[in-house]
Amino acid sequence: MQTPVTTYLDDIYECCLDNRSGERADYIRELAEADPEPFAIALCTPDGTQYSAGDALREFTIQSISKPFAYALALRDRGFEAVNAAVDVEPSGDAFNEISLDEHTGRPENPMINIGALTTHALIGGPDASAAQRSALIVEGLSQFAGRELTVDEGACASELEDAWRNLALAALMRAAGKIEDDPDDVVLGYTRQCAVRVTVHDLSVMGMTLARGGVNPLTQERVVSPEIAQQVMAVMTSCGMYDAAGDWLSHVGIPAKSGVSGGILGALPGQVGIGTFSPRLDAFGNSVRGVQAFEQMSKDMGMHMMAIPAPTINAIGQHCRTADGSKLVALQGVLDFPTAEMALRRFAQIPPGSDDVIIDLTLVPSIAQAGAKMLLTGMRSLTAEGHGIVIVDPHQRLTAGEDQVTGLRRLDSRPRGALTAAEAPTG
Ligand code: GLN
Repeated sequence: MQTPVTTYLDDIYECCLDNRSGERADYIRELAEADPEPFAIALCTPDGTQYSAGDALREFTIQSISKPFAYALALRDRGFEAVNAAVDVEPSGDAFNEISLDEHTGRPENPMINIGALTTHALIGGPDASAAQRSALIVEGLSQFAGRELTVDEGACASELEDAWRNLALAALMRAAGKIEDDPDDVVLGYTRQCAVRVTVHDLSVMGMTLARGGVNPLTQERVVSPEIAQQVMAVMTSCGMYDAAGDWLSHVGIPAKSGVSGGILGALPGQVGIGTFSPRLDAFGNSVRGVQAFEQMSKDMGMHMMAIPAPTINAIGQHCRTADGSKLVALQGVLDFPTAEMALRRFAQIPPGSDDVIIDLTLVPSIAQAGAKMLLTGMRSLTAEGHGIVIVDPHQRLTAGEDQVTGLRRLDSRPRGALTAAEAPTG
């Protein structure tokens, strides 16, 4: 059987294909002359499964979609403090090539507009990196996000450089303001090469999924950046990724995204899916017309809006009882995140102080979120402070860190013999 996801993508493709409104970008010769007809959509799931419709193997230049990834690499190489000191994270409300600077600090408003992207580009590789080293590091970094070796379209790069005066002026301004230390010519050359990296919609979907998985590529399993960096990049994409249409996009689509003038759009829905679309005709904001339509449709049909209310939380306490030897057993179930861990802590709080063991069974817990782990460890520490011994039943190794914070914690792979069921035993 063909999975319904393929059929669904084909339907979206057919429904957007007839939309020929919009214009190709006209300020870069290669893009002005590009075939306006191609259209493609691709999805990548957290386990690296890929789906596509249309011309999914066609390569195009990544353009501004490189910006969030260059920002990620700058954060990796220089750290949050140094990057924040150079570039702000506020939506600019202006076109992508405006001189959008914070009036007090003089920092570019965000790394998704050209003036901010030129500044972040110059931060990659650390203070001693040469322009050539930086360029190589960027192609390598983008390739790590895509899970394959990407190449530069030197022709597209040369064609943009013929007329890159505006970007040169922006870089020169940043040099004059002390926000970049390199020669503005080098920065514009490097940045333009960064924008000329060739990708397909498949690549975009994998790059999006790498961010959405917290920095781990779903195909190669390589950790490219830390979860903190991936989160920061998706946050800035949410507020600034779609230029002046960011507010509209957030309310209608609600997927952290970035568009580029060649016609690509990349989406990264945390934990769920990476999406890539390509179609060269752009709307007045510089976003691909068919791409925007496809994203709007997918978000609506599949409930992909990041503010969509998740399925209701199940009761985290599967069972609680006293075992034959007098220990207390609390069996947890479901994903342990803030609301479910709070239920567990409430249950722990009902256990009176004493020297008996508290057995916490995690067999039916499929995963533990960061907040859940913190809260669970705190709860276990409080129980030990009240005299209890703690035993966790954790056959699937869900609790992976922080056990050393709980004095005398013991682990079991299965429930101890003699543990009664809730129906047989009094609770408490
Ligand atoms: N290379 C393009 C530029 O700097 C990228 C802009 C874009 O994709 N919006 O103008």
